[in-house]
Amino acid sequence: MKRNIGVILILLSVVPCAAEGQSRESPKMPIVFSPRYDISFMGLEKLHPFDTTKYGKIYRHLVKMGIPRSVFHTPTKEYLASLKSSRVVAEIAELAPLSLLPNGFLQWRLLLPMKYAAGGTMLGAELALKHGWSINLSGGYHHAKAESGGGFCFFADIPMAVHRLRKDNPAMTFLIVDLDVHQGNGYESIFQDDPSIHIFDVYNRLNYPADEEVKRYIDFNFPVEPGIRDKEYLALIERELNAAVRQTQPDILIYLAGTDIFEEDPLGGMNISEQGIIRRDEMVFQVALDNQVPILMVLSGGYSTKSADIVGKSLENILRNVIRLHV
Ligand SMILES: [Zn+2]
Repeated sequence: MKRNIGVILILLSVVPCAAEGQSRESPKMPIVFSPRYDISFMGLEKLHPFDTTKYGKIYRHLVKMGIPRSVFHTPTKEYLASLKSSRVVAEIAELAPLSLLPNGFLQWRLLLPMKYAAGGTMLGAELALKHGWSINLSGGYHHAKAESGGGFCFFADIPMAVHRLRKDNPAMTFLIVDLDVHQGNGYESIFQDDPSIHIFDVYNRLNYPADEEVKRYIDFNFPVEPGIRDKEYLALIERELNAAVRQTQPDILIYLAGTDIFEEDPLGGMNISEQGIIRRDEMVFQVALDNQVPILMVLSGGYSTKSADIVGKSLENILRNVIRLHV
């Protein structure tokens, strides 16, 4: 009997969301999105270099590709409520810079989308364990520290997701693979020498935040030269990431897939092409799958007007050619 259950569980785990399909109306896919992710200040957002509506654009790309709207997961009120629970609130109060909290309007327009996105990362972490992979179409706020925010990051969604998974699995180990162009100094500062967290960070060595103090917490530290091109960049990731996954054997890989490495990104300073980004994302997914490590992908930075389009194409490539989704 036990063996049968085991077999069923294995079968369920390879069929995307089959388990949920039995209990809900339509089978869900482990992709998390909320229409609330997009940020708008009645036009004022255009003054910021960040394309604050990129999340909806990426979602629409996937819908156009043939993924039905009904199969996306949404961070529900339960997740937002969990953000309000005393324990997590204490955490957010610590993680969100209170001095930077804007007025009610800004809070509604800016913090609420980010709250949903942080809830999406937490939900995505659970879905990755359940289905072997998941993608949150936002999140990856890697500059938020315990006592201060920065770089457009108010909620430390990665530590919050780790915290949530650890509640049920206290012995879990994590590999954070941060390929955003910027150093992930927020969670590096929060996790520090935590032995169950391994950090793999590739970033432009001359770019923000150049946080020397927390660099020592990066286990696999790759500060690269500005202007680095596809060939060298992809070779580095191919060589080093496989080795890091084999060495650490994590229970989950959390991938910060920043597209601010793009050659046209106004804030990045790297020289990676669209094809290079698509290839990079595919490689990271493939390494996780080959090593049977569940992967959660979050989007992080990407400030070029082409960012949403590139992410859309890259996700389509992952879903078709790595996950082998037939839509
Ligand atoms: Zn970045």
